[in-house]
Amino acid sequence: MTTTESTAIEHDPVRPAPHVTHEVLNQAAPRVDVNEYTLNTVLDEAVRRHDAAWAVDDLTEIGALVGTATFQHDAQLADTVTPVLHTFDRWGHRIDEVEYHPGYHRIMSAAVAHGVHTSAWADPRPGANVARAAGFMLFGQIEAGHACPISMTNAVIPSLDLQPDVAALWRPRALSRSYSPDLGGPDKTSAVFGMSMTEKQGGSDVRANTTVAVPAGRGGPGAEYLLTGHKWFCSAPMSDAFLVLAQAGGGLSCFLVPRVLPDGTRNVFRIQRLKDKLGNKSNASSEIELDGTVGVMIGEPGRGVRTIIEMVARTRLDCVLGSTAGMRQSMAEALWHTRHRAAFGRTLADQPAMASVLADLALESEAATVTAIRLARAHDDDADDTERAFRRLATAVAKYWICKRGPHHAYEALECLGGNGYTEAFPLARRYREQPVMAVWEGSGNVIALDVLRAMTREPECLAAFDAEVNLARGADATLDAHLDRVRGQLAELAHSDADVAQLRARSVVESMALALQASLLVRFSPAAVADAFVAARLGEARGHEYGTLPAGVDMAAITARH
Ligand SMILES: Cc1cc2nc3c(=O)[nH]c(=O)nc-3n(C[C@H](O)[C@H](O)[C@H](O)COP(=O)(O)OP(=O)(O)OC[C@H]3O[C@@H](n4cnc5c(N)ncnc54)[C@H](O)[C@@H]3O)c2cc1C
Repeated sequence: MTTTESTAIEHDPVRPAPHVTHEVLNQAAPRVDVNEYTLNTVLDEAVRRHDAAWAVDDLTEIGALVGTATFQHDAQLADTVTPVLHTFDRWGHRIDEVEYHPGYHRIMSAAVAHGVHTSAWADPRPGANVARAAGFMLFGQIEAGHACPISMTNAVIPSLDLQPDVAALWRPRALSRSYSPDLGGPDKTSAVFGMSMTEKQGGSDVRANTTVAVPAGRGGPGAEYLLTGHKWFCSAPMSDAFLVLAQAGGGLSCFLVPRVLPDGTRNVFRIQRLKDKLGNKSNASSEIELDGTVGVMIGEPGRGVRTIIEMVARTRLDCVLGSTAGMRQSMAEALWHTRHRAAFGRTLADQPAMASVLADLALESEAATVTAIRLARAHDDDADDTERAFRRLATAVAKYWICKRGPHHAYEALECLGGNGYTEAFPLARRYREQPVMAVWEGSGNVIALDVLRAMTREPECLAAFDAEVNLARGADATLDAHLDRVRGQLAELAHSDADVAQLRARSVVESMALALQASLLVRFSPAAVADAFVAARLGEARGHEYGTLPAGVDMAAITARH
């Protein structure tokens, strides 16, 4: 009897007939052709709540696209058939090009066509950044690597705007909805951006940069300089232009370095090698050498950090979005698997110990989602002073915490798939390798925690705005109220500490602030089952250290049903 014939025979679904050698039973069907937006209730609620209901049709289209088997396959190919550096052409000309799998370009093309790079600048109405964030998360949920240049292209705009003559040329290109993987010529009408700050001797401390820039002519903002030096990390090196920091006398200045010069010749941009990374495989990250490379000064001389920080502030938000998207993918895959597999006589998802793990993972994912979208709304053009002060501090707080929570969340979700989860055939092994980078780049954990301290000290209005936001939830839950008091106490103590003691305590204070923000948002906006469980599990006396240690009385079914 063949295996096919055997399927007609009635037998115990988890026990193959004894004479069949290979029958696939009790495995979940592939999770394909699903709509990742309409299925994501928490994201949909947040999008509508934060003034982006007008974007729901487009998000539904993106959700359907990224849920297709074809898109998922492209994501897998882009991450397994990794970028290849071609330093020279076959005749020996230096070309410094990186070849990607066509699947990567298809994903980039779709992301740009849907505007998840710069739609919020092209149409800056209320909710614009919410819509863009949700689209960015949907793409990033399935393929994370391409999100790096997409994020940098969004983020570069406020830095570009500091140099209006340069912005006049490059802004329309960045806003274009067409994507061309070729470097092209000076008439190219679209552009993707990168940035390069990090050098071998210093990444977090960019003041250690030794790349130098000398004026090619008159010098000053908008003028051409020649850059010489080496950059240790430069992701997406096939981007059309980069913001680069270099010493130009009087301190670090910021330069726009195009890959193709206005006369159509290639700028000197020597890609020395590609990094062999833990994850983030579809995204090429390179080491580059600049040798008389043309760059145009953006912003004031010696104010390079001030100029590029405009960009970094936006990429930090995208780290939050990226980690959150990863949590959603982890959640969706874990729920799918455990709802379609049985062990010891019950569906896995119905086994009490598993139900607790799933509900706990769902709480983390929901807390990250409500926070990420709240933050995105604070980045809209209509933000007033209070909202801008809130986003300055809350983005750093969330970048620290949500990006730190990402890897362990992915690991725990992976374990829900058992052995399958540990194999490359399923997406969570890839996700597990992906999540740590969100915490490393754009300010690693300590650096971000110290940035929170800096913001609170130098810009007291940020703390006032943050405090006002989290205290909107006061009075609803005694445990949360006690935590809010504790945070105020920690902050008061910090204000009287000397600098080293403050740095020593930075992580624990930021952690408390992040939990206050997440809990307050859940209390205000999520169903009681979710908010109560989060407050009890993360702030209460009975909190555990691992996922799946939810206190008694939590309505686990109500929590996971939303996911
Ligand atoms: C995949 C990938 C892609 C990247 N792409 C780019 C890119 O496109 N462009 C770019 O410019 N950079 C890029 N980077 C570099 C990245 O931004 C840096 O690695 C990061 O900023 C940290 O800098 P560093 O590696 O020099 O580490 P360091 O600055 O040496 O930091 C090492 C550790 O020390 C901690 N630390 C630093 N200062 C302090 C302090 N004062 N107190 C306590 N702890 C401290 C940090 O938090 C970190 O944990 C990329 C990195 C990765 C992994």
